[in-house]
Amino acid sequence: MKTIEDLEVAGRRVLLRADLNVPLDLTDPDNPRITDDGRIRASLPTIRKLADRGARVIIMAHLGRPKGADYAERAAGGPSLQPVAARLGELLGRPVAFASDVVGEDASRVVAGLADSDVALLENVRFEPAETSKDDAVRGEFATQLALFGEYYVGDGFGAVHRKHASVYDVPQRLPHAAGDLVRAEVEVLGRLTSAPERPYVVVLGGAKPSDKLAVIANLLDRADRVILGGGMSYTFLAAQGYEVGHSLLEADKIPEVTEIMAEAGRRGVELVLPVDLVAATHFAPDADHEIVSAKDFPADREGLDIGPATCELFAEKIADARTVFWNGPMGVFEFPAFAVGTRAVAEAIIAVDGFTVVGGGDSAAAVRSFGLPEDAFGHISTGGGASLEYLEGRTLPGLVALEADDPSSTDAPA
Ligand code: ADP
Ligand code: MG
Repeated sequence: MKTIEDLEVAGRRVLLRADLNVPLDLTDPDNPRITDDGRIRASLPTIRKLADRGARVIIMAHLGRPKGADYAERAAGGPSLQPVAARLGELLGRPVAFASDVVGEDASRVVAGLADSDVALLENVRFEPAETSKDDAVRGEFATQLALFGEYYVGDGFGAVHRKHASVYDVPQRLPHAAGDLVRAEVEVLGRLTSAPERPYVVVLGGAKPSDKLAVIANLLDRADRVILGGGMSYTFLAAQGYEVGHSLLEADKIPEVTEIMAEAGRRGVELVLPVDLVAATHFAPDADHEIVSAKDFPADREGLDIGPATCELFAEKIADARTVFWNGPMGVFEFPAFAVGTRAVAEAIIAVDGFTVVGGGDSAAAVRSFGLPEDAFGHISTGGGASLEYLEGRTLPGLVALEADDPSSTDAPA
């Protein structure tokens, strides 16, 4: 992969794909509040480097999951990237021009108005249905329009590199391109986790749904020495062992697959560690009544929202001797302080490890920051949950494939 240093960006228009997909509090829809700006901060070094070198930086990014049949419906429903442009400007310490559309009149106007070292952000690329189209021709046509804005492409949106989307996969095929510093750093770290990690290699997985994580668990059975499972997804594993899980998150249709994974772990000598006690709440609410119960005696009328204290201790013990740790997914509903205890305990146990530690996953990273834990206490906090999981599953990531490919030949390149 080429790097930014390989491009002569001074005075040139550089289309930069960044990952600015931050969580928003939409309680007041007229005044959306960014609840965690970690992804914006992680994007700053590449933006600064390009601008400092005299590039005219045009940023493409997505936010949330806009719904609607066409551009107009999606733009009306939001979310708009406008508050992100404002926050980005504050953090950069220079104005960020915001285009109120993606490839429309305003975008053309903003791009044409850029001087050297200026930074602009286009509106949410997912307002354009073509961005995520499964049809190569539809995506390609949209990518050609986007590519007209730039002379170079820089891919730095690690959180989106597993998506075969126009701004991730198709635009770099149309322009000379390079990987941004964030993407390079992420790939380097994930490479360390897959090729010869120091042992013991302990993987901690949590979060909501096993269906998101089964493929990665299956692939990690080749590499990890121990896999610790908590959070919403662990209830399907507990159910597969025949335990009652009440109203807890359960993917009953995944029980056969989960059973097979447990058997395979046994055959390979990989230790699977499950919760031994849980916090059983009356319902899903921040102030719900709750009690600690044994994983073997879960009350049928309750919902598990966190791991219990004995599990916190067990997990900490199983993490302590690790030389390499990968953690993805909270141990409970950490957004509710009453059910954040287990996630915090795991984060602290990982911080105490004398080895290489990686946190992957937007919610896990947000949890670390919400606890006020020092981010530099971890070896690396990945900005891409899905992307890092797919990498660890051993899949090829379209955005990386496109960045690794040769530049389009000069005869195809725009004048
Ligand atoms: P990440 O973004 O780090 O990859 P996920 O998106 O997989 O993590 O999962 C995060 C979500 O899982 C959080 O919103 C959290 O509230 C939820 N979660 C964790 N444990 C539970 C549980 N026991 N019941 C319901 N939701 C849970
Ligand atoms: Mg998540």
